[in-house]
Amino acid sequence: MSSQTSFSQPGCSSTGPSPITTSTPGRYAQDAVRPRLLFSDLDGSLLDHHSYDWAPAAPWLARLYQLGIPVIPVTSKTRSELLSLRKALGLEDLPFIAENGAVVGLPSSWCHSGLERQAGSDGLVIKTLGVDIGFIRQRLRVWRERLKEAPGIRFTAMSEMTLDGLSTYTGLSDPEARLARMREGSEPLVWEGSEAGLETFRASLAGDDLQLVQGGRFWHVTGKSHKGNAVSWMIERFAALRGVTPLTLALGDGPNDIAMLEAVDQAVVIQGCHGLPVEPRQTALYRTAAAGPKGWAEGVEYWWGRVDRRLTPAATSPSTYAYTHTLAELTS
Ligand SMILES: [Mg+2]
Repeated sequence: MSSQTSFSQPGCSSTGPSPITTSTPGRYAQDAVRPRLLFSDLDGSLLDHHSYDWAPAAPWLARLYQLGIPVIPVTSKTRSELLSLRKALGLEDLPFIAENGAVVGLPSSWCHSGLERQAGSDGLVIKTLGVDIGFIRQRLRVWRERLKEAPGIRFTAMSEMTLDGLSTYTGLSDPEARLARMREGSEPLVWEGSEAGLETFRASLAGDDLQLVQGGRFWHVTGKSHKGNAVSWMIERFAALRGVTPLTLALGDGPNDIAMLEAVDQAVVIQGCHGLPVEPRQTALYRTAAAGPKGWAEGVEYWWGRVDRRLTPAATSPSTYAYTHTLAELTS
C-alpha cells in the first residue's frame, strides 16, 4: 500500500475545498446546523483501486476533520487491515464498518454505557452484526462437495488462496495480504464458474441464510448483514447518543455499496474501474466523472461544497463567531 498524503495534520490545500459561505437561506438553512456523518467505501472510492493512494481526497478529509464531521470507513476490508489504515487516514478516533457490514468497531465516545462491554486494548468495542466466519467456511465446504457434479460451479475462496496468489491477485504486499485473510464475518471468493452456476450457488447459500455480494475484485459470502444495515445501525447509534438525527452522505463505487447509498440522505456513485452497474434507489444521487479519490473529492464537493448546496454557514476564518458557532453545532 502506498500513500503520499496523510491527513494527520489537517489543513486546507489551495486547490482543495472552496471557502465557506456566511449564510444558507431557504430550505438548506435547517440542514446547515444539523450534525453530519459521512460514510465512505475505501477501495476504488477513497483509495485508488490500483495504488491505494488517497492524495486527491486529502484536502476534503482535512476540511471535514476541521469541521468535526466524522468520516466513517465502510469497507469489505477486515478489521485487521483497517486498523493501520484508519490511523494513516487520521480516522482513528472514529468508528468503522468492516467486512461489508458484518463487523462494526466503536471508539469509547460512540459506545452506549448500558449496551457495550469493556473496550479491548486498542480502545475499541467490536460488534459482529453478521454470522461467524467459521460457519461460512464450513457451509462453503459443504456446498462445494454437494454441487461438485453441477455444471458451472467453480470458485476459489480467499482462505484457499496462497499468500503469493492473494498478493498477485490484489496487489497487496505479503503482510497486507496476511491481514486481509484475518476474517471475522465474511469470506471473499473469486468466481470461476458460469453465470447459471452462480445463480445455483446463490440459491444454495440462501438455504443457509447466507448471501453473495459483489465487490470490485471478489464476491463476498456473508450473513444477512450488509453495508446498508450497518450504516443504518450507526446512524441510529449517533441519534441515540446525541439526541438528533444527522444529515448523512455516502460514497461508493461498487454493487456492494448500493444498500449503503440507499440508507443515507445524499449519495455519490464514484466512477468505477470494473464496468459493473451501480443503480441505487436514491433520488439524491450524484455520479462522478472521475474515479477513485479524485471522484471522491468531486462527490463531496458536489453535495457539501457548491455555492447552491453549501450547507455550512461559516466565515472564512476559524476565529470568528460564525465559524465557532457552526463547529459547536456540528460537534455537539
Ligand atoms: Mg469499492
